Amino acid sequence: MDIYDLCIIGAGMFGSSAARHASANPCLKVCLIGPDEPKIEEYNSREIFSSYYDEGRIVLVAERDPAYQVLSKHSIKRFREIEKLSGIKFYHPVGTLLAGERESPLLLGWMGGLEINRVPFVDLSEGEILNKRFPFLRLEKCLHPFLDNNGAGHISPRNLVEAQKKVAKMQGCHLINEVVEEVKENVSGRHEILTESGRILKAKRVLFCPGAFTKFKKLGPAAYLKIAVHKETAVLLEIPDEERQRLSSMPTIMMYKKELAGMPPSTTGTYILPPILYPDGKYYLKIGPMGHQRNSEITTLQEAKAWYREPGDSEVMEKMSKLIFEIIPNLKVTSVRSKTCITCDSPPHLPYIDRLKPTVAVATVGNGLGATTCDEVGRIAAELSVTGKWDSELPKSLFEAIYER
Ligand SMILES: Cc1cc2nc3c(=O)[nH]c(=O)nc-3n(C[C@H](O)[C@H](O)[C@H](O)COP(=O)(O)OP(=O)(O)OC[C@H]3O[C@@H](n4cnc5c(N)ncnc54)[C@H](O)[C@@H]3O)c2cc1C
Repeated sequence: MDIYDLCIIGAGMFGSSAARHASANPCLKVCLIGPDEPKIEEYNSREIFSSYYDEGRIVLVAERDPAYQVLSKHSIKRFREIEKLSGIKFYHPVGTLLAGERESPLLLGWMGGLEINRVPFVDLSEGEILNKRFPFLRLEKCLHPFLDNNGAGHISPRNLVEAQKKVAKMQGCHLINEVVEEVKENVSGRHEILTESGRILKAKRVLFCPGAFTKFKKLGPAAYLKIAVHKETAVLLEIPDEERQRLSSMPTIMMYKKELAGMPPSTTGTYILPPILYPDGKYYLKIGPMGHQRNSEITTLQEAKAWYREPGDSEVMEKMSKLIFEIIPNLKVTSVRSKTCITCDSPPHLPYIDRLKPTVAVATVGNGLGATTCDEVGRIAAELSVTGKWDSELPKSLFEAIYER
């Protein structure tokens, strides 16, 4: 039986990125294990899903946390190269419009931090600049808008994962479309990876990238990490052709505001993506809450599994689909539907990128920002798994794993 030098578990945004980076080394035998996206008719028989089954994720550098600025900057700058190597398009740098409440500590800290860290942005808060630039948008006067126009925009997470996997495969990585049930270490220190179909794979090193599903199978020490898993509902508004033309310069939007649209206090703002083409051939504009919807916590695999089959939270659906008409007055919409997904958070609100044992590493917990950071998280994790070295200008201590007590 083959013994892999590195087995990466979880073929989502972090895992596929790590697989591309690790397999660039021709001396290493690498495999990436994880299930492909299920077809609609497979949802009932599936247990393990993913947070990337969608066409739009916001990418930006001007995040509030400096560590995210660095992770995003490095990821975004490689997107065009990944498109070129794979021949798969996924990146749309349309800009990201950001807003926070004027003079609020959040906004002052955020903008001050961007200046200190020399993250470029364009202030759109004075006079009519916002209206001239985006005539179809109306933001409340209490909000201070600014634009990240330096590579920010959106990606298709589905296509990014496909692109990463395609390049990894071309570099010799084995792609294994399976769910892992258990990972054990045998007496000689080799890892045995048992899959749902009963297959056993062997590896010298393991890198866990199972995202929000990290704690739901017997994934060695990774299953004991401190991770909070949350339900998410996003609202998709179908946009007719002529409306799409009117909104053709629309950026992605992230707006922080307390007491937004009557949502619960766990909601810290809203995110919006411009009309994007979905696999059904229609264009949808997407809006969802930042922070969390009511009763969002998930603690078992059964709850996670059930959530992927539900229509979503009716409060999010109702309030977000009203809010969009305040932000884009006279928006023409053909239909409205919702979509469910799950995200996960860590206490420091940064991903865990760490060695749990000399031959076991982890890169998990996106904190709602795993798309914009994925390629750099994958690169750091691949390097750490293979060489044991921390290769980033960010301190290693920021990303250390925290276990449940
Ligand atoms: C509605 C919504 C909107 C979002 N918007 C944004 C955004 O605008 N910008 C942004 O940056 N991020 C956004 N995110 C977050 C982003 O999608 C995630 O942070 C990102 O997908 C995390 O990557 P990951 O690799 O950790 O997890 P995933 O992408 O979910 O990948 C984990 C993979 O591991 C696999 N897996 C799990 N368990 C097993 C197992 N036992 N065996 C084998 N495989 C396994 C899963 O099938 C999955 O494919 C959003 C998330 C949601 C839900």
